[in-house]
Amino acid sequence: MTISKPKITEKWQKKNKYGRPGTPLDYTKVAIHYTGEADVKGSATVNYFNNVVANGCIVNGKYVYASAHFVIDLDGTIYQLIPIDERCYCTNSANAYAIGVEVATTGKDNHYTDATYKAMVHLCAWLCDRKGLNPKKDIIRHTDVVGRAYKLCPIYMVLNPKKYEQFRLDCYNLKAGKIKVSDIINCTNGKGKVTVVPTAATAKTKCVRILKDVNIHNKADFEKESVIGKVTAGGAYTVVETIKRSGTDMYKLKSGVYITASPKYVEVFEK
Ligand SMILES: [Zn+2]
Repeated sequence: MTISKPKITEKWQKKNKYGRPGTPLDYTKVAIHYTGEADVKGSATVNYFNNVVANGCIVNGKYVYASAHFVIDLDGTIYQLIPIDERCYCTNSANAYAIGVEVATTGKDNHYTDATYKAMVHLCAWLCDRKGLNPKKDIIRHTDVVGRAYKLCPIYMVLNPKKYEQFRLDCYNLKAGKIKVSDIINCTNGKGKVTVVPTAATAKTKCVRILKDVNIHNKADFEKESVIGKVTAGGAYTVVETIKRSGTDMYKLKSGVYITASPKYVEVFEK
C-alpha cells in the first residue's frame, strides 16, 4: 500500500432488496458516475438512497433499484453507504465486478469542485491500490458499460475525454507515489494547468534539442510578459516536466524556465 486511506464518513445503508442485497463482491473495476444534476449536494443523494429507495420507492409504477458504494459531495466529503465487499446497484451489468462511486458536480457543464476532484482522485487511487488495479484502465465510466444511447454518465467525463484521461493519470500518479494528495490539480474547472510528473530517477532523462531559436518564459504561458530570454538552435536541455496546455504544450527545463513543446522548434531525445 502506498496511499493513505482517504477520510470516509460512514452512512451505512440497512440491508434491503432495493439497494443493498448483501451479495458478495470481489471488485476488479471502479466505476464513476455523476449524481445527475449539478449543484445538488451529495448528502441529498445519500439521503435519497438510504431513506427513500431503500424503503421501497415506486416511480412510473416500478420499484427503483439503486445505490452506490460511495457518494462524494461538493465539499469533498466522501460518504460510504455499502461495504466494498458487497454489491451495489449502480453500474448495471458491471455491478457484479465494479465499485460504484457517485460524484456531485457543479456548473452548467457538470464539472467538479476542487475539493470534489481531489477526493475523487484520492478515493479511486486508494480503491485501485488496495486491489492492485491499474487506474489507467480499471477506472471506468458508467457509459463505458451501458453505451452512450443509454446514458452519458458522468456527463463531464464522457464529453471531455482528455480530462477523463488526465483524471485517470492523476489517480495513477498518486497510486504510484509520484504525486501527493496536496499536488492534485483539478483539471476540470477551466483553470487547470495540469501537472505531469517528472521522470522517475531510474528512467532515462528526457531532453530537448533546440531546432530554431525560441523564447524562454518564467511561467508556463506564451505571454510577452513572461519572456525572459532566448535559447538558440543547437542547444540541448533537460526537461523536468511537460505542461499540458489547451494550446501548445510547454516543457519546464531543469533551470526552472519554460519553452514551447512544439516539434517545429524542439526535438525530444533521451539520454
Ligand atoms: Zn451513472
